[in-house]
Amino acid sequence: MASRLHILDEARVQLEDWLSQQGLPPYRARQVRHWLYCGRAEQFSEMTDLPHSLREQLADAFAIWSSTVLQHPTAADRTEKLLLRFPPSAAIECVLLRDGLRRTVCVSTQVGCAMGCVFCASGLEGVERNLTVGEILEQVLLLQRLLSQQERLSHVVVMGMGEPLANLDSLLVALHRISSPEGLGISPRRITISTVGLPAAIDRLVERRAPYRLAISLHAANDALRDQLVPVNARIGLREVLGAADRFVVATGQRITFEYVLLAGVNDSVEQARELARLLRGRKALLNVIPYNPVAGLLYGIPSSSAVEQFCEILRRSSINVQCRERKGEAIDAACGQLRRRAIPAAQLISQPELANSPGVES
Ligand code: SAH
Repeated sequence: MASRLHILDEARVQLEDWLSQQGLPPYRARQVRHWLYCGRAEQFSEMTDLPHSLREQLADAFAIWSSTVLQHPTAADRTEKLLLRFPPSAAIECVLLRDGLRRTVCVSTQVGCAMGCVFCASGLEGVERNLTVGEILEQVLLLQRLLSQQERLSHVVVMGMGEPLANLDSLLVALHRISSPEGLGISPRRITISTVGLPAAIDRLVERRAPYRLAISLHAANDALRDQLVPVNARIGLREVLGAADRFVVATGQRITFEYVLLAGVNDSVEQARELARLLRGRKALLNVIPYNPVAGLLYGIPSSSAVEQFCEILRRSSINVQCRERKGEAIDAACGQLRRRAIPAAQLISQPELANSPGVES
């Protein structure tokens, strides 16, 4: 099986080339794509408007799926998560969220993560490799198949495992197929890339006129604290991150989202809310305040709902656009890297540097 190519990794031209080598017309590629993206086909044999012989040839040459589903938990709010393994690599995760009429998928871009955010499960073992275009698409298509025939995918968030802007080339090809009418046809305005904030890569998004929404994970309003929570910040600095965010807003006219995970006793004080308000004042931005989702082995505290409310209220009073996000899919470890975290033995955990004000890591 390993010798078969992953069909989701094949660009249109490559599939057309393969068809022409078999003496077949290029329009067959369009039919195959239609079955994959809209027809929710699981196998080539289901592609009933293709000749039998072609279905067999395709099945000999290509695989549609390259992952193994290790776990598939569903939460009471119908959030579903897939723990997937793309052999021979370690597991990655992706999530389907149902909210009113919204059907959002959250996908991973890397196996592991190199950014090292101290409260996040994804980076605890570092990064193994980038996911390919096909592997990113496979997550979306597998989650799409969990929907009923009446349901349609409406949104994509690139907020799973990994730093999306560290795998930008593959991500942009995958997102192009997700947004193109020949692919899933999801509007780019409903696709959000979440980044730790890599200025050069944000500038590349602008240069390449990527039409997607951008979210930047801030988590702290000063460099001293951000260096501790988001270690990659020590090499970049908030000024540079916000500078790139401002250039993105000017170039695209789009509002940017800043994410701020509230960790009890670490970054949730009244003074820190005021400092954040000063930093964001005058910027065309939405602030997403997200209470910490506990990670097995990490002992950061969940802020009380009154602390979350107070934090958000201070920002609101300073005319900052704030969204206080509820925690979704908690029972199934829906936050970045959590499910895989539970699935790996404690002996493999890597210690994180302790934070001055936080409980640090369980031994
Ligand atoms: N590397 C990208 C995508 C990461 S996941 C980024 O940094 O944005 C998307 C968001 O979930 C990030 O803001 C991340 O900091 C946050 N996150 C990670 N672990 C979390 C947890 N345990 N609880 C709440 N949010 C978490």
